[in-house]
Amino acid sequence: MPELPEVETTMRGLSRVLDGARLERVEPRRPDMRFPFPPDLVQALTGARVTGLDRRAKYGLIHTDRDRTMIFHLGMSGRWRIDPDEIGRHDHLLLGTGDRLLALCDPRRFGFVALADTPLLQEYPAFAAMGPEPLGAELTAAHLHAAFAGRKQAVKLLLLDQRIVAGLGNIYVCEALHRARIDPRKPAGAVSRAALARLVPAIRAVLELAIEQGGSSLRDYAHPDGQLGYFASSFAVYDREGEPCLRDDGGTITRIAQGGRSTWYCPRCQR
Ligand SMILES: [Zn+2]
Repeated sequence: MPELPEVETTMRGLSRVLDGARLERVEPRRPDMRFPFPPDLVQALTGARVTGLDRRAKYGLIHTDRDRTMIFHLGMSGRWRIDPDEIGRHDHLLLGTGDRLLALCDPRRFGFVALADTPLLQEYPAFAAMGPEPLGAELTAAHLHAAFAGRKQAVKLLLLDQRIVAGLGNIYVCEALHRARIDPRKPAGAVSRAALARLVPAIRAVLELAIEQGGSSLRDYAHPDGQLGYFASSFAVYDREGEPCLRDDGGTITRIAQGGRSTWYCPRCQR
C-alpha cells in the first residue's frame, strides 16, 4: 500500500512531467475507480495548465490555472505509469500533455480521483479535520502534548489518527516510536514532554529516509513500465519479529496486535 513517502516520491516524479504543462488529453477509461470519476473531470481539466503539484497526507494534488485541483488517492495498489508502451486494462485514467502520457494504473481500484476548487481545498471533506503534516513546521512536541493530554489510548494508536497527525501509516509510526525509544503501548497522555521532543524529529527522520530512498528509485519509476516499489531496505522494527534490535541492546523485536494491526517494537529500549 502506498504510504506517505511513496506519495511524496510520486508527486516529485509527476512534477517533472506535469509542472507547467498543458493537459491536452484527459481520458477516464471506465466510469469509476473506488468512486465514480467526477462528471466534469474531462471538461474541467482539458486544456488547463498545471500550475503546481502538492501532497496532503496521502493525497496527491494537481493544481491548474483554472483554480481547479485534481485530487487523487492511490488506494492499495495505485501508481502512475509514465509514457507506457501500451495502455493496459488497469490504466483507468490517462493524462496527456502533448509529448508525454501518464496512466493512473490501479488493479484493485481502491484509489480514486476527485476535483475541488483550489481556494476551497481546505474544506474538502477529507482535509477539513486533518491534523498537521508530519513534515511541516506545524507538527511540534507542543501540538502532540496538547493532542495527547488526558488520553488513555496507546500512543501508537493515536499517532495513526489522521486528526492528530496527517498521513502517518502503520510502518512509519512503528519506526518513529522505536527511533524515539517510546513504548507503543504507553497511554498517550503519559508520554513525557522529553519523549515527545524526541518523537517529532524521529517521525521526520523515518519519513525523510524513506523519501530519500524513494528518490533513488525515481530512475526506475520514470521507466515506461516502472513501478513504484516499497522502500523496504532500512526498517529497524517493521517486519523484523524475532530479530535483534539494531541498537544492539540485547532486545528482540516483538510483534503485538494493537487496534487490529501489527505493531513491532523492542521491549528493551522502548519504555
Ligand atoms: Zn532495542
